[in-house]
Amino acid sequence: MITTYFEEDYRPVVAKAAAGRFLPGSSIEIIRELGSRQPLRHVLFDFDGTLSLIREGWMNVMVPMMVETLAATGTRESAHTLGEMVREFVMELTGKQTIYQMMRLAEEVTKRGGTPQEPIVYKQIYHDRLMERIADRREALRSGRASPEEMLVPSSRPLLDGLRRQGVELYVASGTDEPYVMEEVRLLGLDEYFGPHVYGARDDYRTFSKAMVIDRILKENHVPGAQLLGFGDGYVEIQNIKAVGGVAVAVASDEAQRSGKPDAWKRERLIGAGADLVVPDYQDYQPLLAYLWNAGA
Ligand SMILES: [Mg+2]
Repeated sequence: MITTYFEEDYRPVVAKAAAGRFLPGSSIEIIRELGSRQPLRHVLFDFDGTLSLIREGWMNVMVPMMVETLAATGTRESAHTLGEMVREFVMELTGKQTIYQMMRLAEEVTKRGGTPQEPIVYKQIYHDRLMERIADRREALRSGRASPEEMLVPSSRPLLDGLRRQGVELYVASGTDEPYVMEEVRLLGLDEYFGPHVYGARDDYRTFSKAMVIDRILKENHVPGAQLLGFGDGYVEIQNIKAVGGVAVAVASDEAQRSGKPDAWKRERLIGAGADLVVPDYQDYQPLLAYLWNAGA
């Protein structure tokens, strides 16, 4: 049997994001009550925007790079028009591996009569520029000039400590290239939580997907999807977790401001993907853990 792991497109399961109820005195919005269910044993985290803020602002690198590339085809569209179009499809594809955004760029170049580069070439150009932008942050962490807390979604560590106390296994699966994810997990001091369970994109994008990581967790541990809990700020992980019957927590993180308020666009989109709960960050990790482990009690 040939299994392919092409990542699926966004597929809304909810027509209009209904407002949930808030756990009293907290920022935790419950979209779907958990009810009585099996105990959660394995917990999967997306990385960028869900734990790490090292790559915050990546879109302000990707969009101009794509606008430049499209403008070079000689199209008559203004930079503004191109910018809006690009922003839309980049956001639409967020959560998938970067290469998918670059495949789309290549298609848009072709549509405008240009001859595109291979998507992997575009990905490299983008990545070089992004690394330039975030080199300072990585260096600040490495040298100790910045503390990991400054570049984490608020209260990530207390949440992870709390999860560890529940005795669950923790995993990271990211659409960013694996060596970088591993390095940034270490820079943020999170390696003690995840150990060898850190997965990311590979050069051959067909050999990795978040769905594949989920598959492996369930198979290797002989557990049903109902025992899986997932945290993510992208639709892919929410969709994948729900597809196996797990519990999905949408992290509508405000990456730039860390305001403690949910990002409206992420919230809407992640509810649309089937999220059970929405949090802006982990400031209310205590009621969150209590709810996740006791709701059905
Ligand atoms: Mg993310």
